[in-house]
Amino acid sequence: MELSPAKLYIVPTPIGNLADITLRALTVLEQVDIICAEDTRHTGKLLSHYNIKTRTMSVHDHNERQRVDSLVEKLAQGQSIALVSDAGTPLISDPGYHLVNGIRAAGYDVVPLPGACAAITALSAAGVATDRFCFEGFLPAKSAGRISQLTALQSETRTMVFYESPRRICDTINEMRDVFGEERHIVLARELTKTFETIHGAPASDLLEWLNSDENNRRGEMVVMVSGYKEDSEQIAPEVIDALKLLATELPLKKAAALVAKLYNQKKNALYKYGLSIDL
Ligand code: SAM
Repeated sequence: MELSPAKLYIVPTPIGNLADITLRALTVLEQVDIICAEDTRHTGKLLSHYNIKTRTMSVHDHNERQRVDSLVEKLAQGQSIALVSDAGTPLISDPGYHLVNGIRAAGYDVVPLPGACAAITALSAAGVATDRFCFEGFLPAKSAGRISQLTALQSETRTMVFYESPRRICDTINEMRDVFGEERHIVLARELTKTFETIHGAPASDLLEWLNSDENNRRGEMVVMVSGYKEDSEQIAPEVIDALKLLATELPLKKAAALVAKLYNQKKNALYKYGLSIDL
């Protein structure tokens, strides 16, 4: 394969198993003039495994913006460049956004190669709905930030995909249980493509118990997939319940249910029935 000059190639790398790289990715890495890597030592191991001798240059979160001009200059000279991150697809919870944006703005082609991505790998085997999903990446490091972000997702109906670190996994699942409810189905996929690959799904409270039962269950890299909110009488979103409770202090329940149903695009009978079943 002959590479076109003056292009930036976005090259996914394995997320664990070194064999998970495409033939095209290896050819591109071999033939480009320079490989921009998040961590040149880390990428060096992959390159030496495949006996690729291309020069590397570090491009990470802290120097990415400064690198744009010099890389545009290299493209102007007809050189071709590859961008890789430590693992998986660059730009997916990884550096590269400023580079891609800057290089496209300068009028050069950015060529994406398909390949490994932890989120997509996890979704393909989790048994959760995949017809519609949203990628949420990493939640904030602090509990208050996580809770507010999760609260904003309370009535999200699509499957939600998160990346999480082993240090925070118990706190995060605990908060998910509090915000989404004990019964919400959550699947944890850890160490994908590696020796201790585990994919375990359970209602939030059972998943938390499983995590607490064995420290091996919370080791390694992980993807968390949360089933979307389902509209039924037992699972009315908390903000809808709050509105119903508030209006029911001033109005008959029937009227309150009808107004809230209109405001939140819900079924008024379901809200009325729910109102009867709780202490308003
Ligand atoms: N760009 C990568 C991708 O395409 O998936 C993601 C990079 S992000 C900095 C790293 C996070 O991805 C980890 O903290 C973990 O949540 C997830 N991850 C990466 N490799 C994984 C693996 N083998 N198994 C499970 N999750 C993984």
